[in-house]
Amino acid sequence: MELRLLALYPEQMNIYADRGNILFLRRRCEWRGIGFELASAGPRERFDPAAHDLIYVGGGQDRDQRLVAADMLETKREALAASVDDGAVVLAVCGGYQLLGHSYQLGDERIAGLGLVDLETVREPGPRLIGNVAIEPAADLAGRALASGSGGAGGGSPVIAGFENHGGRTHLGPGAEPLGRVLEGHGNNGRDGLEGVRRANLIGTYLHGPLLPKNAWLADRLIALALARRAGAEPELAPLDDALEAGAHRSARAAARRG
Ligand code: GLN
Repeated sequence: MELRLLALYPEQMNIYADRGNILFLRRRCEWRGIGFELASAGPRERFDPAAHDLIYVGGGQDRDQRLVAADMLETKREALAASVDDGAVVLAVCGGYQLLGHSYQLGDERIAGLGLVDLETVREPGPRLIGNVAIEPAADLAGRALASGSGGAGGGSPVIAGFENHGGRTHLGPGAEPLGRVLEGHGNNGRDGLEGVRRANLIGTYLHGPLLPKNAWLADRLIALALARRAGAEPELAPLDDALEAGAHRSARAAARRG
């Protein structure tokens, strides 16, 4: 078995060490004897949708997003859409998440997004939405993690914990499902109690952290879904010693509770 990961714009879209998510996926594969192949696609580079099982894009400041948005639309939209339709896993964080929607509106300026999910982001007046956050994901995403006991959430339903820092407010359209419900923190816009987006195996979220080392069960879920694309079914992943990961989760969760 081998996980083939493609990082989009790793130089431009990588704030708050979002690249740590890739390292974490690599380690969890290697610890289990699963091969891991890392490729990247930066400005002007196209990619073959059949050649990657998990596509990752991290966060970026408005300035970074301006630099990549048009290029992303021109050179990567088609392949990304084909990848999603073909069951590839896509994880997009913050600035990368915003660019999956229809647009990111900053005053008079409109940055066109990929339109892969039904959402819009607007830089409304008001403070940035900053802080520790915890969300409850939809039950079907968490299902297997709950069964395997690797939720790191103390026996309850797995919670995703992380950190958010965004000026943009994201509003899901009627055709979009959230990643989860906000337990603590702001989420997509600080108002509707929703966080992130999900469409098939595509996940967009505001949670940095990096997200995956704090939520090991989610990392394993993404690995299993990505491997299932070629294996035909989700493989049983060998359990790992997650003492450190569980500690990281507990501390992120406790920070979110403190507000
Ligand atoms: N530039 C975007 C915003 O502030 C995203 C920032 C980020 O990726 N943290 O809304």
